Amino acid sequence: MYIEVNNLIKTFGTYAASDNISFGIEKGRLIGLLGPSGGGKTTILRMLAGLDSPDSGDIYIDGKRVNDVPAQQRGIGFVFQNYALFRHMTVYDNIAFGLTVQKRSKSEIKARVTELIELTGLKGLDKRYPNQLSGGQRQRVAFARALAPEPHLLLLDEPFAAIDAKVRKELRAWLKATIERIGITTIFVTHDQEEAVEVADEIMIVSGGRLEQKGSPIDIYKNPLSPFVAGFIGESSQLDNPGGLKGFEEELPGTKAIIRPEFVEIGKIGELPTPLAAEAGIVRDVFFRGNSWQVEVQIGSQTISAYRSLEKDPLKAGDSVNVLIHRLYVFNDKHSRIAEN
Ligand code: ATP
Repeated sequence: MYIEVNNLIKTFGTYAASDNISFGIEKGRLIGLLGPSGGGKTTILRMLAGLDSPDSGDIYIDGKRVNDVPAQQRGIGFVFQNYALFRHMTVYDNIAFGLTVQKRSKSEIKARVTELIELTGLKGLDKRYPNQLSGGQRQRVAFARALAPEPHLLLLDEPFAAIDAKVRKELRAWLKATIERIGITTIFVTHDQEEAVEVADEIMIVSGGRLEQKGSPIDIYKNPLSPFVAGFIGESSQLDNPGGLKGFEEELPGTKAIIRPEFVEIGKIGELPTPLAAEAGIVRDVFFRGNSWQVEVQIGSQTISAYRSLEKDPLKAGDSVNVLIHRLYVFNDKHSRIAEN
């Protein structure tokens, strides 16, 4: 493993912002650190960067324990949300900053900055100041500045947070392509699941100071280990009493389950081929999703989501429907399991 973190604990007062976190990351991977606000994402990043030290636990980078290595000697580049550009410096000087600190020669600095300006699509903007740039351009400068000293690891804390939705989408596609081209190991923090799924090779879900799950987006989507994770990646509805549903009677009281809408089939009365196996439901709400309808349907005291093809008769609130549930993710204290009907 290129990065190995073992039993990392960091408390603020009595609160464990990092509560015994362990993980490994292979070289060249692009990792999304995802979780709710206050979950402990930034705390992990700061400890990796050397800006905070853990109360206990070890951090290894490339086989070397770095706990006692100061931030500037860890070979890490970072772009933090509040790590603004130097306002009184041009784009060129901002990017050159780390190289100047390292006392590289003028010609070497020029070659490297030119290369980065090229790579980050900032050609022609090198003499501008940060306040003469768009948000997306500023973020590219921050990225180029972090990459300039050729770090081995790149840490990005909500790199797109301050950027509007459309530019943000473009920028993240660009970032993914650029990082893959360079091949640098990268960890980026986000609380946006769409962003994590779209950009990352692997996702780590952090909440309440704990690492809830780590895996590829598809693996986490298909095999969530907790209702919390299932709720964080992809659409899902939670059920408190899955044993009350037709076809799932063997599920014990007290278990929890989640349903993904793609495993739910709904039809008007008489529309489904096997109505006897279906639950009776009432439509509560219908949303247009672009490629389908999303239908909120109440079964007994619980409401779940289903998709309905645009080709079928539309449904409306108040309609009686049949609901066939094909798959549930069932959770008890320690295990998760897929139950199929
Ligand atoms: P966000 O998405 O809001 O940035 P996060 O997942 O990055 O959240 P952290 O910034 O790591 O979360 O914070 C985790 C917890 O630790 C929070 O409850 C936060 O209030 C607390 N915390 C972080 N830094 C400090 C500090 N310097 N002093 C006291 N508490 C802190």
